[in-house]
Amino acid sequence: MAAADCLFCKIASGEIPSKKVHEDEHLVAFEDLHPRAPTHVLIVPREHVASLAEAGEGQEAMIGRLFLAAARIARQRGLDSFRTVVNAGAGAGQTVFHLHVHVLGGRTMEWPPG
Ligand code: AMP
Ligand code: ZN
Repeated sequence: MAAADCLFCKIASGEIPSKKVHEDEHLVAFEDLHPRAPTHVLIVPREHVASLAEAGEGQEAMIGRLFLAAARIARQRGLDSFRTVVNAGAGAGQTVFHLHVHVLGGRTMEWPPG
């Protein structure tokens, strides 16, 4: 079910344009509008889930698919290292409340993240 007024539901459905890099029946991957690294792709489930904190039983496969898609995209781009990030909650930097995995690569990453 799509949520009304959810940006990533609208991107997943195509109502709002994006630079899609992959889509299938379960998920959509597209370029982040404000990339923070040479590769910065977002992967979202078609199903609306507000955040990782809201995910629960029955969604294990969906969550697994997001991360396998991240690894596939990194591989396709020839990245030998990459970072996946899931911000959960405003205090952690989440600004769009539809679960998404960031895939960042193509530059050296710092640790710990800010
Ligand atoms: P987060 O802060 O973890 O919720 O991540 C949301 C991400 O969505 C940010 O990196 C934004 O740059 C990105 N973003 C916001 N609007 C769009 C859009 N229309 N198309 C693609 N990425 C977007
Ligand atoms: Zn949504």
